[in-house]
Amino acid sequence: MAFRDLGLDPRVLRAVGEAGYTEPTPIQSAAVPQILAGHDLIGIAQTGTGKTAAFTLPILSKLAAGHSSPGHIRALILAPTRELVVQIEENVRAYAKHLHLTVATVFGGVGEAKQIDALRRGADIIIATPGRLLDLMGRRYGNFSGIQHLVLDEADRMLDMGFLPSIRDVVRQLPRRRQTLLFSATLSREIEAVTREFQHSPKTVQIGRRSNPAETVDQFVYEVPRHLKNNLLVHLLRNPDLQMVLVFARMKHGADRIARKLEQSGIRTATLHSNRSQSQRLRALGDFKSGAVRVLVATDIAARGIDVDGISHVVNYDFPPHAEDYVHRIGRTGRAQAVGDAISLVSPDEQSDLRSLERFIGRSIPRKQAEGFNYSAPPPPAEPRSGGGGRDAGGHGGGNRGGGGGNRHGGGGGGGNRPRSSRGPAPSRGGGGGGGGGFGGGGKPGGGASPRGGSFRPRARR
Ligand code: AMP
Repeated sequence: MAFRDLGLDPRVLRAVGEAGYTEPTPIQSAAVPQILAGHDLIGIAQTGTGKTAAFTLPILSKLAAGHSSPGHIRALILAPTRELVVQIEENVRAYAKHLHLTVATVFGGVGEAKQIDALRRGADIIIATPGRLLDLMGRRYGNFSGIQHLVLDEADRMLDMGFLPSIRDVVRQLPRRRQTLLFSATLSREIEAVTREFQHSPKTVQIGRRSNPAETVDQFVYEVPRHLKNNLLVHLLRNPDLQMVLVFARMKHGADRIARKLEQSGIRTATLHSNRSQSQRLRALGDFKSGAVRVLVATDIAARGIDVDGISHVVNYDFPPHAEDYVHRIGRTGRAQAVGDAISLVSPDEQSDLRSLERFIGRSIPRKQAEGFNYSAPPPPAEPRSGGGGRDAGGHGGGNRGGGGGNRHGGGGGGGNRPRSSRGPAPSRGGGGGGGGGFGGGGKPGGGASPRGGSFRPRARR
C-alpha cells in the first residue's frame, strides 16, 4: 500500500515525503485507515516500527479538517518519559509543518511557567507526561473540554512506572465522546483492563514483534579484567567505524567516571543519568544526535525511550545482570534496518551473567580479542571503588527511577523544552537493505541523509 492510498491530508503526505518515507510501515498501513474512520484502537507495536507516525498522521489529518478554537486543546498524547514527549513533539512538528496547528509539551523537571502559558493559550495538540499534566490540570490550567483524540503511548511502560492513577485522573476530566488510541509493546491482562476502562469498542492492530535484536544485531564479547575496561574502551574507540556510540554503565557515578576518562583521552562524550538536570539531559541527547559528541554514556533507566537514529555501536561497559536489559540495550542500535554492533566488555566477575544471557538468547556470543591491546597491563595504583558499576554498588534502579520517570514534581530550572539541536524525524537512514529490522518486512526506504547531517553508510554485516 502507498501512503497516498491511506486517505491522509495532502499536506501531511507532503511532509511525509519530505521526511524521506516512501512507503508506510505495516503498523501505519493497518492503523491509519482505522483511526481515520474514527475507531478507538489498540496498537500492539514496539518503538522502531513507525508507530508514532501511525497515530500522528491520521490525527493531524483529522485536526486539519476541523477548526481550532482559541483556548481549547483538541488532541492529547500521553507518554511515559520526558525524552519520549520531546521525540513525539519532533515528529508531530515535522509531519505538521505544512499545517497551521499549534503544538505544546508538558513534562516535569523544567519550569512550569511556559507550560502554563501554553495551556492557557490552548493548543491543537498537547504532548505530556501524566504527572506534570495532572498537576497543572488540578490547578485548573487548560481547557480540555474539547478533546477529540487521546493517545496513550507506551501504555505498558506508563503502567510499569505507576502512572495508572494519574492517567485515570486525567482521563476523568476529558469528554467521554472522544477517540482513544492506546499503544503498547505487549498486550498484558493489565493493559486489557485499561483498554476496557478507557476505550469504546476498540479495533486491535498487532504488528509482529520487532525482530529480536538479539538475533539481528552483530554482537561481540571482549573478555577483559575490570581494571582494563577503560583502556580497552579508549582503544576500541580508535576505530573510526565506531561513529556514534552509546555506552551503558550500571551506575551514574560509573557513567561520569567513564565519560571523564574518555574526555581525558580526547573523545567528546556526554552523559545521561538521573543526577543530571533536565536541561543537561536534553543537551546531552541533542549533542549526541547532532554529532557534537561521539559517545553518550548512559544508565539503563535514563536510556529508556531514547530513540536516536544511526547509533552505530552499543557498548556494554558493565554487563547487565538481567537478560531483558541486555536485549533492550542492544536494541538501541540496528534500529529500523541500520546495521549496528553491540560490544560487551566482560570481566571475570561478570562471566556468570554472560552465561545466563547466552542461555536466554539460546546461543553463544562470539569472543573477540582487541588487536594491539595490552591485556596484561597491571591495575593502576588507586582504582576508585564504586565507579564503573562495581557489583558492590547496590543496583542502579532506585537511584535512577526518579530521573527517568520522576515527572510528578515540578521543580524549577530548565525552561526551554527542546534540545538545542533537535530535529524532526530523521529521513530514512540506512541504505537499501531490505527486510527484517524494525519494520517487520515492510521495508524502509534507503538513500536518505543521516540524522547527523552526513550520509550514513550502513556497514556490511560480518
Ligand atoms: P517509531 O516506531 O515511531 O519510534 O519510529 C521509528 C523510526 O522510523 C523513526 O525514526 C521514524 O522517523 C521512522 N519512520 C516512521 N515511519 C517511517 C516510514 N514509513 N518509512 C521510513 N521511516 C519511518
